[in-house]
Amino acid sequence: MRLILLGAPGAGKGTVAKLLTQIDGSVQISTGDILRGAVQAGTALGKKADAYMKAGDLVPDELIMDIMENRLQEPDCTKGFLLDGFPRTIPQAEALKILLGKLNIQLDVVANIIVPREEIILRLTTRRTCSNTDCQAIYNVRSHPPKAEGICDKCGSPIMQRADETEDVISKRLDTYNEKTAPLIAFYEKQGLLLNIDTPTTDGVVNAITARIAGD
Ligand code: ADP
Repeated sequence: MRLILLGAPGAGKGTVAKLLTQIDGSVQISTGDILRGAVQAGTALGKKADAYMKAGDLVPDELIMDIMENRLQEPDCTKGFLLDGFPRTIPQAEALKILLGKLNIQLDVVANIIVPREEIILRLTTRRTCSNTDCQAIYNVRSHPPKAEGICDKCGSPIMQRADETEDVISKRLDTYNEKTAPLIAFYEKQGLLLNIDTPTTDGVVNAITARIAGD
């Protein structure tokens, strides 16, 4: 499958993407994961992105498009891809459209995951992420804690609260989402690609997406 997962921070895009990759071998491409990896590794990209991310602002479109232009041409994308956290602005969506046209790739669907703001804030303040950048497994102290407190089940590294998951920065990220990313909903609706999903469970979201793809 070739799809875009749209939704506010904390809507569950990453969790849904991980489940979908198990169905048909499509790869999850998370610009957030790629950027956090670059920041920790101290690469030139990471140095440029760091301050924007800490403040809850978006990283400039040119940097993101450089990443995605390369990433979408890697061989593992031939089986399909799930874009998680990209595109995030109208210019990114326009640039993606041109890039996909050039690569002769068609999207199946743009899944818009809808979650109320109070639930998002609760989820993000209780979310924890594995500190190992090759893992980045996600936990939640309320609904999905690791088996041993503070330790990743998958790789044994410490889990931590992301630097951008304090209440102030979360609120800023949600404002940024409403201002810059929410306009993509109308953009993709016009193209007939949008699927709105407001089911409260992760399995429900996964089922809505697979049903839509099977029906196409
Ligand atoms: P979330 O979806 O939970 O906000 P992400 O991991 O997707 O978290 O992104 C974390 C941060 O990385 C964003 O707040 C932003 O600074 C940066 N970022 C990720 N993807 C993009 C993108 N497509 N365009 C611009 N900035 C991005």
